[in-house]
Amino acid sequence: MFLWLHIRRRAGHYKKTCADIRSKLLEAKEPEFAKGTKIVFTWLLDGPSCRPNAMSVFPGLIAVNAEWAARLVLVDDDEVRNCFRFTLGHEMTHQAGDFSFWDIAGRDKKFVNWVSEVHADYGGALTACDGSIDDAVRALLYKSKEWKKDKDYLGHPSWHRRADYLRKGCFDRALVCRIAEDAGCKNSALIERVAMFYEPITLGGSGSCLETDK
Ligand SMILES: [Zn+2]
Repeated sequence: MFLWLHIRRRAGHYKKTCADIRSKLLEAKEPEFAKGTKIVFTWLLDGPSCRPNAMSVFPGLIAVNAEWAARLVLVDDDEVRNCFRFTLGHEMTHQAGDFSFWDIAGRDKKFVNWVSEVHADYGGALTACDGSIDDAVRALLYKSKEWKKDKDYLGHPSWHRRADYLRKGCFDRALVCRIAEDAGCKNSALIERVAMFYEPITLGGSGSCLETDK
């Protein structure tokens, strides 16, 4: 109910008419790569916010806010579809398992959070964008437009920094060390544990992770 109202309200903003809401959302909820994952559009996540957002609720379930629904129905262009697919792949990678921690704070926590985000970006690119660095970077830059100021947070690096990490094309020990440096983490034991935890991911055209060290 509120979801549909949000879409109708946003139709004026986008100067589009609401058509095929049900079928467009159904199609968006069932991408090939997300088999076994339930995707739910809900107004309850963020209410009337005009910023697209999605969240892993628990393994196998991803909640998507009303603004994503509005854009998929009303805008429905390549940028929107690409970014939505990437977002789902990103959340699915989180669900597959992030490095878990309980007793760290400050820059150590920032480092672990940042690596989780960057790893999910790589997983999203691999899962939802056929390993395309360009498509994944495009998705991140689309998201960056939603923020007036693109800056680093405790929970995640800025969108542009994330795009830079992705352009390396290789999630590996060298990238984990680079993130540690950027986040100001000097806890070498923690850096080692995190580097050992994640399997390397190589994206399209960037060769083997072992060959790159940038
Ligand atoms: Zn994330």
